Amino acid sequence: MSGSGWRARDEDRLTGSLTARDRVGIQDFVLLDAYTSESAVLDNLRKRFNENLIYTYIGTLLVSVNPYKELGIYTKKQMDIYMGVNFFELPPHIYALADNVYRTMLTETNNHFILISGESGAGKTEASKKILQFYAVSCPSTKLLDNVRDRLLLSNPVLEAFGNAKTLKNDNSSRFGKYMDIQFDHMGGAVGGHILSYLLEKSRVVHQNHGERSFHIFYQLVEGGEEDLLRWLGLERNCQRYSYLVQGECAKVSSVNDKSDWKTVRKALSVIEFSESNIESLFAIIASVLHLGNVTFVADSQGYLLGIPAQVIQVGLTHRKIEARSEEVLSPFTVDQAVYAKDALAKAIYGRTFTWLVNELNESLANKDSSRKTVIGLLDIYGFEVFSVNSFEQFCINYCNEKLQQLFIQLTLKSEQEEYEMEGIEWESVPYFNNKIICDLVEEKFKGIISVLDEECLRPGEATDMTFLEKLEEKMGGHAHFVTHKLADQKTRKTLERGDFRLLHYAGEVTYSVVGFLDKNNDLLYRNIKEVMRQSKNAIVKHCFPSTEPDSKKRPETVATQFKSSLVGLTEILMSKEPWYVRCMKPNEGKQPGLFDDVLVRHQVKYLGLMEHLRVRRAGFAYRRRYEIFLQRYKPLCPDTWPNWKGTAAEGVECLVKHLGYKPDEYKMGRTKIFIRHPRTLFATEDAFEVC
Ligand code: ADP
Ligand code: MG
Repeated sequence: MSGSGWRARDEDRLTGSLTARDRVGIQDFVLLDAYTSESAVLDNLRKRFNENLIYTYIGTLLVSVNPYKELGIYTKKQMDIYMGVNFFELPPHIYALADNVYRTMLTETNNHFILISGESGAGKTEASKKILQFYAVSCPSTKLLDNVRDRLLLSNPVLEAFGNAKTLKNDNSSRFGKYMDIQFDHMGGAVGGHILSYLLEKSRVVHQNHGERSFHIFYQLVEGGEEDLLRWLGLERNCQRYSYLVQGECAKVSSVNDKSDWKTVRKALSVIEFSESNIESLFAIIASVLHLGNVTFVADSQGYLLGIPAQVIQVGLTHRKIEARSEEVLSPFTVDQAVYAKDALAKAIYGRTFTWLVNELNESLANKDSSRKTVIGLLDIYGFEVFSVNSFEQFCINYCNEKLQQLFIQLTLKSEQEEYEMEGIEWESVPYFNNKIICDLVEEKFKGIISVLDEECLRPGEATDMTFLEKLEEKMGGHAHFVTHKLADQKTRKTLERGDFRLLHYAGEVTYSVVGFLDKNNDLLYRNIKEVMRQSKNAIVKHCFPSTEPDSKKRPETVATQFKSSLVGLTEILMSKEPWYVRCMKPNEGKQPGLFDDVLVRHQVKYLGLMEHLRVRRAGFAYRRRYEIFLQRYKPLCPDTWPNWKGTAAEGVECLVKHLGYKPDEYKMGRTKIFIRHPRTLFATEDAFEVC
């Protein structure tokens, strides 16, 4: 802990003096008595936002409101200010949280994660980058460590180039979920990292809605690629030439500089030590996808970019191999089927290349030394999404958000209350909405939406998106969180099309169009196309289509089921670590600085669970320590407990805190732990400890 004395500190800095408080609000919702209603929370957020104070605490949870402008608060100087200082001593900041997590990890030698949530465009990815940058600067530095640091930092622009895209909500929207472990040695040096990626929205490669783009890397290559490279790849420096890039009719975005981003990515790939031949293969794939989109590639004699002769691909894309009387014959596609096959191939190549890329990054970040390490995990995963038309992708993304909310409930709201109960602390239970019912609706075995979807995917030729919807209506009819045109009352019916179903998510209603659900869930690639890909001379393509891949005769797991399993895996990873939270909010829908939309923010306050969290926090205790640990640390502060206390640890702690003058309402004695209401009480003790 820091050496600055609590007594020397101005207590007003915590709550703000009255006049200052009127102007800038309070920095921790827990600390002021009047702030219990949603409107009061909103008022406080607005006040602070108008003063460019985008961060506010609820205890150790950090609330952040996207300013949509540079605030100058992420300088090296700011980092220095926050390094090693008690959490509540300085104005709230993402650096304070990062520093607190880091120091807790070092003193308690355990694992942590920071869950960053909020809807698309709220500032999650920026927050995770700020945290990483803070560690890059604040952690011990040696030549070796600096090398790891650079790789950790540079993995970001690479992943963003391949995994982010402009959407209507965010010009740099993450189209995949990302969990990154940063590994630290016992001295606190960042010695390695590991990335897990979740469900890349690869349909974006072949289709974008109006006002949206494909993944950044395509535009970066076309706009920024060196002349020689483009010539070699057979590309023109004109995005308009590529059918896969123009569907959203916005190849250029004012807030994105594809040219300079290209340079960054190019440099990052070198620092991360991708071999030149891998880099070449990588860009050859990106170019091939663009050519594939124009189909002319098929007839084009220079179509060697995937490392496969054009003719072979042509046959692959226009025929399907079928078995007839134990003989394999090629049956030609209709035009629609060929277009479908082409798009499926483009998506598959891109998706698999993305997976390859993540694996390569992990190789580069891997720490080979086997000594014990602790980790801080950063979870930056796509936020809750509602568009005017929502499809399978939004369904998966919003399901993921339900799961994370469930985790938050279990780790925080529920566990907090259970702990009080277990410890026998008197406690008035705080009600909260448990979204388990919605998670079950989506994922329950045999009954949930994913199950029904998978079942329909097992009936090729017979099942359609509409039969899927009908099955849902049969099974989910009457469920409080599920409605369709047929099931709805008259008033609601007007707001639904026949091919829609609506889920009442914890964060609000979302109407999904079933169109494409079966197809996207199946994600089929014809067997002979895979065989063709295996012949590729491009090392990455070859790697991505291994000959060991199980034959498509055996049914692969569907996309939704794979995603579900990966979320179960993620939950397990997180459950074994200590949680910290950053809740990001959008001040308005227009990406505008200085505009605070009350209705929009109020909605987020609601569904981010801020009120529940605040209530639990306010009613509860900010700190708790096991008696043994508390006594061990602070026993020098009391002549009766020092050097050796003869009684039980609980009695020792009682004696200790009485001696320290804790007031009765400041703490409670549980079965195994002492509970302390305010952080300041513990700070005072900590300061006394440092003086002594
Ligand atoms: P999310 O990951 O939640 O979808 P991003 O982190 O990509 O959202 O943020 C969207 C945009 O908002 C960023 O590109 C940036 O322009 C702006 N932004 C987000 N956080 C900040 C911040 N702390 N300061 C300034 N601008 C920000
Ligand atoms: Mg993001």
